[in-house]
Amino acid sequence: MDLHRVAVLGGGPGGLYAARLLKLANPGCEVVLHEQGEPDTTFGFGVGLAAGTQRKLEAADPDTLREIVAAGLRHDMTMTVDGGIARVRNDRLVGIARTELLAVLQRHAEKAGVDLRFGDRRAAADLDAEVVVAADGVGSATREAGDFGASIDVGRGLYLWCGTDFALDDAVFAPVRTEHGVFVTHAYPYSGAGATGTSTFLIETDEATWRRAGFDATTDATDASDDTSLRYLQDAFAGTLRGHRLIGNRTRWLRFRTVRCDRWSDGRTVLLGDAAHTAHFSIGSGTKLAMEDAIGLVDALREEPDRAAAFARYERVRRPSVERLQELARRSRLWWESFPDRLDLPVERLMVAYMSRAGNVPLERFASTAPDVVAAALTQYGGDGPPPAGAITDWVLDRTRPAPAAMRELHADLDDPWSPEGDAIVARAAAGTGAVVLTGAADRPAVLTRTDLAERVRREAGVQVAVAAPAALRDDLAAALVSGRMDHIVLTEER
Ligand SMILES: Cc1cc2nc3c(=O)[nH]c(=O)nc-3n(C[C@H](O)[C@H](O)[C@H](O)COP(=O)(O)OP(=O)(O)OC[C@H]3O[C@@H](n4cnc5c(N)ncnc54)[C@H](O)[C@@H]3O)c2cc1C
Repeated sequence: MDLHRVAVLGGGPGGLYAARLLKLANPGCEVVLHEQGEPDTTFGFGVGLAAGTQRKLEAADPDTLREIVAAGLRHDMTMTVDGGIARVRNDRLVGIARTELLAVLQRHAEKAGVDLRFGDRRAAADLDAEVVVAADGVGSATREAGDFGASIDVGRGLYLWCGTDFALDDAVFAPVRTEHGVFVTHAYPYSGAGATGTSTFLIETDEATWRRAGFDATTDATDASDDTSLRYLQDAFAGTLRGHRLIGNRTRWLRFRTVRCDRWSDGRTVLLGDAAHTAHFSIGSGTKLAMEDAIGLVDALREEPDRAAAFARYERVRRPSVERLQELARRSRLWWESFPDRLDLPVERLMVAYMSRAGNVPLERFASTAPDVVAAALTQYGGDGPPPAGAITDWVLDRTRPAPAAMRELHADLDDPWSPEGDAIVARAAAGTGAVVLTGAADRPAVLTRTDLAERVRREAGVQVAVAAPAALRDDLAAALVSGRMDHIVLTEER
C-alpha cells in the first residue's frame, strides 16, 4: 500500500527495526519514531540472538546484521552442578549489549531517514499518522487503552535481571543451594573479554525460597535496585562470579508476565513485539520476536493494497510462529520453575533434560551437536554404551525396565502439571502403594505434559511411574526416560 505518514511508538529493538525497514521500503513516507527515553539510556544488560534469527535479519537487512554481529560476542553453553560441568558448543549464538544493539539500530534508522524523537512519553491516540506501530513494550499503554483482547499470565517463580563486570567464558546455567533454598543463574557474556568484559546475570528462584530469604520485604522496599538481594546473591554466586560484583540497573524481583492478544490491530494501530506478546526469558526470544515482527509487518504493508488487509496478513503470517514459541516458552518456564527438584541428576542427564524440556530438540539431534554430553547421559542411564548414532531411541527403550504387570491407572489430561489438578493426581498417587500408569489423550502435547507430570509424581509421591503413549512418540519417551521424568513406558500402539 502507499504510505505517507507512519508513527512508531517505542524505540526498543522492535520499533527501531520496524522504522528503518518501513523507511527503506517506502522512501517517500514520513516515518517518525517516538521514544520516551534518551538515546543512550536503557534498562537491562545483554540479549542473545540465535542462528535462525540472524538468518532472517540477514535476509531483511544485511547491513544492520553485520554490525550487530560485529558488536556481539559468540559463546558456548555450560551447565554446572555440584562441580560437574556439561558443555555444549553453539557456533552461532551471539550475545550483545542491549545498549549496543539499540545504538546500532538507532544509527541505521537515522541513516535510512527515520525522524527519531527522544525524551517524550506519547500516546498512540495523539499521533498524527495513517498507521501507528505500537512497539511500546511489555507494559504497553496502547494495548491497555485499545481493543486487542489482551490477557496476561503471571509466572509462579521470581527472577531478577542483573549484570557483572567480567565476561564469562560461556553462557552458564548454575544453581546454588543456600540456607533458604535454591537460586539458579542463567548468565552469558555479551561484551569484551575476561576482566574487561561484561555478562548478563539473570537469577531465578521459587516463591518459598524468595520469602525465606526475606526478599518479599526487600522487593516491597525497593525503589531503584534491590541492593540487599544483590549483595546476598553476589555472595551466593561467588564461585561463578569469580569474586566479581553483581551490578543492578533498576534490578528488582519480578514474576514473568506472558502477554497474549486476540487481535494485534485496532483501527490504524498495530501492536508489535513485547506489546503484542511475550515469551519466557528462558528461551531467549523476546528481541528475536520483536525484530521478526518488524520484518513481517513491513512485508505485509508492502504487499497489500490497504491497511486492514496488511494488518490481517501480518497477523496471519506472524501468529503461528509467535504462538509456537509461546508454547515452547510456557513449557520451558514450567521446567525452570521446578528446576531445584532435579538437582540429584548427574549434570549430563540434567543437560539432556534441559534440552528436551519443551519437546523441540530431538535427542538424536542433540547427540550430533553434543556427542560427549549425550554419550555420558546415556551411559549413566543404561549402565553401558553409548549406542551408535541413529539408534538412541531403541537403545534407551531396550534398557528400560518393563512396567509392572499391575499398576494403578490415573487419568491425566491437563495443561499444567503444577496446577491444582496436578496436585490432586500427585495426592492420589501418594495415597496408595505400588506403581501408577498415567493415561490420557494420545496427541503429542498431551503426552509431553504427561511425562512432566510423571516426573512430579515419581519425585513427590515416591512411587514408580509409567506413561501410556502411542509408539509414534517413542523418541519423546526415550528423551523423557533419560531425563528422569518417568520409570517405565506403556506403548498404546504397535511399534
Ligand atoms: C529478564 C529478561 C531477559 C531477557 N533476555 C532476553 C534474551 O536473552 N534475548 C532476547 O532476545 N530477549 C530477551 N529479553 C526480552 C527483550 O528484552 C524484549 O523482549 C525486547 O526488548 C522487546 O522489544 P520491544 O521493542 O518489543 O520492546 P522494548 O525493548 O521493551 O521497547 C519498548 C520501548 O518503548 C518505549 N516506550 C514505552 N511506552 C512509551 C510511550 N508511551 N512513549 C514513548 N516511548 C515509550 C520504552 O521506553 C522502550 O524503549 C529478556 C527480557 C527479560 C525481562
